[in-house]
Amino acid sequence: MLAYIGLGSNLDNPKAQLVSALNSLSECNDIEVMTLSSFYKSKPLLDIPGPNYINAVCKIETKLSALDLLEICQQIEENQHRVRDVKWGSRTIDLDILLYGEQIISNDRLNIPHPEMTNRAFVLVPLFEIEADLKVPLFGSIKGLVDRIDISDLIKL
Ligand code: ADP
Ligand code: MG
Repeated sequence: MLAYIGLGSNLDNPKAQLVSALNSLSECNDIEVMTLSSFYKSKPLLDIPGPNYINAVCKIETKLSALDLLEICQQIEENQHRVRDVKWGSRTIDLDILLYGEQIISNDRLNIPHPEMTNRAFVLVPLFEIEADLKVPLFGSIKGLVDRIDISDLIKL
């Protein structure tokens, strides 16, 4: 299965946090990291106070189920000492499963396509960078999605 994972961090050397999470994904036997976007700098959502974020998106191939992939992502978050407090607050690392093949999944633990992805320049722009022809289930072409959003606060590094 092809899947796309969004990575973000705004604490404790965000670039190194992303590199570390990507290494952990690569080291997982059941995951092959195929493509990685550039790193992008973005501002916290909704003017929540805190440092700027570094974001990226990677494309993986995996035999894992979507739930097992979520568990791997959450283990990596835990290993990198993520503390959950404020919703959308500062974090050492966030790994979100954006897409899992063409599947639409909606249950207590998992929503795919990731419900916020269509509003977020820091997801759509790196996704477009690595997969310009992508069709997002329920939402249409990645090109159309990128064209609709404000990308002025996003800086490609
Ligand atoms: P956020 O990413 O919105 O800041 P968290 O990373 O703390 O929030 O995730 C909260 C919950 O979101 C997780 O416990 C997980 O079960 C759920 N979740 C639902 N859909 C997804 C998805 N596609 N990728 C990652 N987590 C998801
Ligand atoms: Mg998350």
